[in-house]
Amino acid sequence: MSNDRAECGNLAKLLQQLGGQLDQYLRFEHADAMQDAKRWRSALEGSLPEQGVGIEQVIEQLGRDLIPNGSQIPYPGCTSFITTGATSVGALVTLAGAVAAPQRIGLTAFSFLEELSLQWLAEMFELPPQMKGVYSSGGSVANLVALGAARQWAFERIGLDPARDGMRLPCRIYATSASHNTIRRAAAVLGMGRSAVVNIPSDAMGRMLPAALRRQLDADSNNGCVPVAIVANAGATSTGAIDPLRRIGEIAGECGIWFHVDGAYGLPGILDERVRSLYDGLALADSVIVDPHKWMGAPVGIGATFVRDRGILNRAFTQGASDYLEGSVTDENIQHSMDSLGVPYSDFGVELSAPSRGAVVWALIREIGKEGMRERVCRHNAMARLVAERAHAHPNLEVVMEPTLSICCFRYVTDDWEDLNELNRRIHRKLVHRGRSIPSTASVNGVLAIRPCFVGARTSWEHVDELIEEVLHAGQDLAASRQGAPYETQQALS
Ligand SMILES: *Cc1c(COP(=O)(O)O)cnc(C)c1O
Repeated sequence: MSNDRAECGNLAKLLQQLGGQLDQYLRFEHADAMQDAKRWRSALEGSLPEQGVGIEQVIEQLGRDLIPNGSQIPYPGCTSFITTGATSVGALVTLAGAVAAPQRIGLTAFSFLEELSLQWLAEMFELPPQMKGVYSSGGSVANLVALGAARQWAFERIGLDPARDGMRLPCRIYATSASHNTIRRAAAVLGMGRSAVVNIPSDAMGRMLPAALRRQLDADSNNGCVPVAIVANAGATSTGAIDPLRRIGEIAGECGIWFHVDGAYGLPGILDERVRSLYDGLALADSVIVDPHKWMGAPVGIGATFVRDRGILNRAFTQGASDYLEGSVTDENIQHSMDSLGVPYSDFGVELSAPSRGAVVWALIREIGKEGMRERVCRHNAMARLVAERAHAHPNLEVVMEPTLSICCFRYVTDDWEDLNELNRRIHRKLVHRGRSIPSTASVNGVLAIRPCFVGARTSWEHVDELIEEVLHAGQDLAASRQGAPYETQQALS
């Protein structure tokens, strides 16, 4: 079939078919993709098709070869990294946007929700009322956009325009070793260089020490570098730790340095009354990011940056006038959705073409409300505390880092193994291969910890028990296999 006209009027039938396939997937009864890799690879590989097969065959193959061999990330027992499957409403509204509002430009209902949902996020997470946002593809770009604003602000204060003229002076960004690597990458992309990011000492939980920050700033005061930003975590990626935001924000204010809060993962934690006070000082931030595609359950591809004045984003990221847009919109006498491009988001970040993300975030909040989000966050935080409780109660488990939010770093301990990092690495691999509980691991102060992060809307309490059981099982198995010669050799040597 070589007809290249897209379908019209055939979607309901195809969606029903796709819906059935996806419902089947969400029962999580299929084996992991690698179990059957030979079969689906041979079904999928092939040379570039000269002739098409038509949409029906493509959708059918989607159900047969792709969907059952997709990712384990949406599986409720998967607590790896900080990622999860989209909730159904998020996935459906993404599809609706792809069909009905493929760009965020124009005065459409979808574009209206771009701004409204950003306001809802700001209100829900208690950002300063004047803060306004812009969506991007995720935390990586959201941090880049925030630090682009910070760079612009710092240089404008000394009469320079880095967006227009490039970098004329070396810079410094103050963070901790617990900050996300995308901070360092953003510094590289923005022309400051990864080495511009100075690691401020932190406490045992990885939280920045304000006094150490102060000392570093004093020491740097005459070094000829432009202090561009101080970056604090509201939920560090490895452990969920939250930096002392108020003290850091006050120091930033006293020193006239931009204060950025990376809440990609942890900002929604403010909804949990038990930890809400840890966010004290958030109001001092000049920029804040959050990833709706983490705890909120949006499909991957949605991050948000908030700043006090989007004018600074415009100066940092404007594309300038362009021949290819000249005359296309009037912005006056508005009668049609294409009389205006709407809010110029494409000048507030690094994307021109971009999907309608606001409608997705709007739908996530509209479906379950702030209360539903709060319930989810509280439930997940309580799950992490339950893991810690279980670990404290068992002689072969050890809490490596007490949970702040929904991450608990713990490990298996036994006298039968000398290298507990290696043991826990092996335990983790066993877990992954069994496929019932799939946490990730992290190195915390040199200790390899098993690290579940509860953000999945489909994850429930039984998955906590299962995880503990799986770790104990795997640990006992490995410890038993160690008894005998290798163990005695080990003891003889020590
Ligand atoms: C996940 C994360 C990021 C990166 O976000 P992506 O959406 O994966 O690009 C940045 N900062 C923190 C604190 C994160 O947890």
